[in-house]
Amino acid sequence: MCNCAKEMTETLKGYVKSQIENEPGFQKIEDAYFTNSVFVMSNNKLTTAPIIIPFKVEYTRKAKTSGKVRTYKKETNIRPSFCPFCGEEYNR
Ligand SMILES: [Zn+2]
Repeated sequence: MCNCAKEMTETLKGYVKSQIENEPGFQKIEDAYFTNSVFVMSNNKLTTAPIIIPFKVEYTRKAKTSGKVRTYKKETNIRPSFCPFCGEEYNR
């Protein structure tokens, strides 16, 4: 398993810090991470697919009693087979 997610996190953190550290009152970065990452279990081992691809479906439902139509959202994710940074295959 490659180290891309960790390395990219540090690189991006440094980049963002260079942009915000001169803002009045800036103190420190509390946390920095990919928001669309996930841990998965495979072959009884905990592995990480650092980047997942979110997919959203919006649909409508009509209430039985009032007949009112409302919009709902359902989200799911796709886990890529390869690291998007270096192309190494993720553990299966
Ligand atoms: Zn990688």
